[in-house]
Amino acid sequence: MSIFEVNKGGYAVGSGAYSVFNKNIKTELNDHGEYHYVFKKSNDLEVASCVCAMTNSRDNETTVAEELYGAVDGIKHNPTIGYYSELYAGYVEEGDYRLNGSSGGLTTWILIELLRNKKIDGVIHVKATNDGPVLFSYAISRTEEEIRAGAKSRYYPAEYSKVINEIAGNGEKFALVGIPSLLFEMQLLLKYIPSLRNTIVYTIGLICGHQKSTKYAECIAWECGIAPGNLRHIDFRKKIANEPSNRYAIELQGVIDGEEVTIVKKQNELFISDWGHGFFKKKFSDYTDDVFNETADVSLGDAWLPDYVGDSKGNNIVIVRSPYISDMIKEGIRSKRINLDLLEAQDVIDSQSGLVRHAHNEIGYRILKRKRAKEWCPSKRFSGYRETPFLRRRIQDVREKIALSSHKKYKDAVDFSDFYSFKNSMRIHIFNYRLLYLLSRINEDGFIWFLRSIKKKISMKHIRK
Ligand SMILES: Cc1cc2nc3c(=O)[nH]c(=O)nc-3n(C[C@H](O)[C@H](O)[C@H](O)COP(=O)(O)OP(=O)(O)OC[C@H]3O[C@@H](n4cnc5c(N)ncnc54)[C@H](O)[C@@H]3O)c2cc1C
Repeated sequence: MSIFEVNKGGYAVGSGAYSVFNKNIKTELNDHGEYHYVFKKSNDLEVASCVCAMTNSRDNETTVAEELYGAVDGIKHNPTIGYYSELYAGYVEEGDYRLNGSSGGLTTWILIELLRNKKIDGVIHVKATNDGPVLFSYAISRTEEEIRAGAKSRYYPAEYSKVINEIAGNGEKFALVGIPSLLFEMQLLLKYIPSLRNTIVYTIGLICGHQKSTKYAECIAWECGIAPGNLRHIDFRKKIANEPSNRYAIELQGVIDGEEVTIVKKQNELFISDWGHGFFKKKFSDYTDDVFNETADVSLGDAWLPDYVGDSKGNNIVIVRSPYISDMIKEGIRSKRINLDLLEAQDVIDSQSGLVRHAHNEIGYRILKRKRAKEWCPSKRFSGYRETPFLRRRIQDVREKIALSSHKKYKDAVDFSDFYSFKNSMRIHIFNYRLLYLLSRINEDGFIWFLRSIKKKISMKHIRK
């Protein structure tokens, strides 16, 4: 299938991979704050299809991961997690990695260890920028200080073609940090441009609920009084002492009425805060079934597990595939510089249960809908339709509506300088989502769950007072 359908249907990942493969293709930000491709010649369309996560019929995450890790000594495989040699949960003990990281700080720790051990000359990750209309972009860090300064999760789109095209073949070695489909497309580039393997030598994967457009950050700021165009910086993950780690805050720096302001707002107090709703979601995220970044040398996420989530300082889950990173982590545990517990595969799956259900169990329903509407859509590993209960199908329908309309309604609101028109137009979908979710939970977990959740909400309100 050609990447023409992919791009036209809005399914392109927007990693920049096409533009690394074929310099005639440009990766640009569209009006909705999403990266898409601009083609010069019609034959460019076909040329890059081998590095596209949405069209490729020859390679998928399983086949590529098998080529990368299938022969690693002692490697195990789980259909949901992919390959792994060890699974952990925990945090960095030494220094202030954990304090300055989004979860347990292990991503930054691994990057710095690779640099100290001279395995890499630098890191390609998503950092704050003053360059152009975006707040964050892929950039290079060559020193420990620069890598540390790049810590924290950016719920923001980024493309790597500009950086990769600059450094390819310059003799330096880099680790690339990325979310699942972006790293998978990098693995396809490494396969089809083997010389690039001398440049990108490690891939560090983040688990990802879904990719947001740039408007997610802008909309949060607008709700807090910072008008579009006046947001200067956003910290999406500010830890709140003595709160569970999934109750974090967002810190914004911007300008209101000519004055520089800093605003901190709890994530769950924001209109678009619930990730389940899928505001400003990029379409490809609904058509990927790679939850655990299966083609990365190591994957990191949040330990959303009962034994860890209560700790406001944050904990990672870690899925190790590269033998060198495996040894580095074991040495870190032995020397007590990092604190990690071994996990079972089921614990890792449970830490992302909502995402696994959305990306594995229910992707078949989304694909079936496209087929019934006689639309082209990508074919995925988990695309076989699994029986999805009526209420869960309706939840999927509403999620889709929220994602689609949020892009359009937000643009209209900006054109009319009226945030409330956006909020009002989305309220009905949120109401429907909440009602369906509640009914679905009662249906699955029984009425006792409903009474317990009300009791929990009342006691949380009591504690806050
Ligand atoms: C869009 C997105 C969605 C996510 N969804 C989930 C989820 O559903 N479940 C879950 O468990 N975890 C999710 N994560 C991962 C989680 O937020 C943390 O990033 C992860 O646990 C690593 O934490 P840390 O403390 O080890 O990282 P830190 O030490 O804070 O380092 C983070 C590193 O990642 C780099 N980085 C940040 N954002 C990006 C980006 N967008 N692209 C490339 N590099 C980046 C930074 O530059 C830094 O080097 C998501 C991350 C992103 C970016």
